[in-house]
Amino acid sequence: MLELRPNCECCDADLTPADQAYICSFECTFCPECTDKLTGICPNCGGELVTRPIRPEAKLATNPPSAVRVFKPDCKTKTVP
Ligand SMILES: [Zn+2]
Ligand SMILES: [Zn+2]
Repeated sequence: MLELRPNCECCDADLTPADQAYICSFECTFCPECTDKLTGICPNCGGELVTRPIRPEAKLATNPPSAVRVFKPDCKTKTVP
């Protein structure tokens, strides 16, 4: 199951399960702004960042999103201005 992480790994912005977010195949998770600055490429694995699917609200109660924040500030060194 997808983790649905609660924040952007690059800028630590909060991402609710309903927010637009981007993930790579390893579920590195980014907000739309950072995905833009990363030119759609994951800074950790070099993979493609794609739109994270929205989990239907009715499923969130039994399949809750991850509460573990992943934050790697050094990803800023890989963004383009
Ligand atoms: Zn971000
Ligand atoms: Zn990745």
